Amino acid sequence: MIVLVINAGSSSLKFQLYQMKDESVLAKGRVERIGMESAIVTIEPTGKPEVREVREILEHTTAIRKVLDMIVHPEHGVLKSVSEIDAVGHRVVHGGESFSSSVLVTEEVKREIKRLFDLAPLHNPAHMLGIHAVEANMPEVPQAVVFDTAFHQTMPPVSYLYPIPMVLYKKHKIRRYGFHGTSHAYVSEQAAKFLGRPLEELKLVTCHIGNGASCTAVDGGKSIDTSMGMTPLEGLMMGTRSGDIDPAIVPFTMAKEDLTLSEVNSMLNKHSGLLAISNIGSDMREIAEAMEAGDRNAALAFEMYEYRLRKYIGSYAAAMNGLDAIVFTAGVGENSALLRAAVCRGLSFLGIEFDEEANARRSPDDRAITKPGSRVQVLVIPTNEELVIARDTYGLILNRNDVE
Ligand code: AMP
Repeated sequence: MIVLVINAGSSSLKFQLYQMKDESVLAKGRVERIGMESAIVTIEPTGKPEVREVREILEHTTAIRKVLDMIVHPEHGVLKSVSEIDAVGHRVVHGGESFSSSVLVTEEVKREIKRLFDLAPLHNPAHMLGIHAVEANMPEVPQAVVFDTAFHQTMPPVSYLYPIPMVLYKKHKIRRYGFHGTSHAYVSEQAAKFLGRPLEELKLVTCHIGNGASCTAVDGGKSIDTSMGMTPLEGLMMGTRSGDIDPAIVPFTMAKEDLTLSEVNSMLNKHSGLLAISNIGSDMREIAEAMEAGDRNAALAFEMYEYRLRKYIGSYAAAMNGLDAIVFTAGVGENSALLRAAVCRGLSFLGIEFDEEANARRSPDDRAITKPGSRVQVLVIPTNEELVIARDTYGLILNRNDVE
């Protein structure tokens, strides 16, 4: 079975084409600058050179058509015909309380995703454009949706409710949802495999530290708490997002600086985090370089970032009353030995016996960065959200075929 995985944004779209027999990637690529005359389409067919084209692409239906054209192109394509694609799986950021697992797309599912636009105004409308664009190009092909929030639907009320008037939850569904769920779920399963123990027995803190960052307390394979909240702004300090702050700062800043709500929102989402403190950038590589060159603002930004992450890990160990392993994943988590070392040194009280050499080693594979007898293991596990989407889509199609 061949599954096309789509991650549609408002002006960009990423794709990966999987052969599910061996879970191999046949091709991947992206369309950037959708809506412009000079949109860029890139395809990386496995085993062949990358191909890039600049052309007018004004909306998502044309973007998908172009992707399909490239997939079946006589020279750089990987399939003979679009009809070889059996199913399409989409990433959808917000599934609210309606979706605790991946589902096949139906009219009712589309209506529900639309109802959730309010909760994810930057993401869900773009995902719907992707779903409609696939429908327009491949009307017969079944589609599935995989939600970033679904894995966290196991959180109990004690962690998902905010201590504010209950009417706000009842009327507007204001609560913690959490994000990066496909990644937290994937690395939890991989961690259990790596440790050779059943996931049901493990207490894990999974740290998805990329441009956006979140950590999750995974107890017995279930998310019981996670740092992102109703939106992806809460929790850890991130590249450009503040993470946790005193909510009273919002009205105070609006009054003192004469800012509108949307300006403060933009400040907290786009001009805060590493960028705001370092005054250099939001990329951990830039921060690390500047630190090495003696930049004090960069050093402060790094220390705050690490300190806040370490506090979350400690609080989740308390939330689960124990900890077997910490998992680092995503851009920073997989690549920044500096951050991992700082976090682990500060958590030695948990019984972490850190392995500096294993930490410094660059490897694309899962690995431990603690010594064999360490009471708490620390693992680096590359995430693979696209593979989870492909697997879930495949599973839903197999199930449907069984039922029919
Ligand atoms: P992601 O959102 O998972 O794609 O992560 C992107 C982020 O990973 C970038 O903004 C960088 O901050 C970070 N990153 C990527 N490579 C490295 C590296 N070699 N060292 C430190 N940080 C990195």
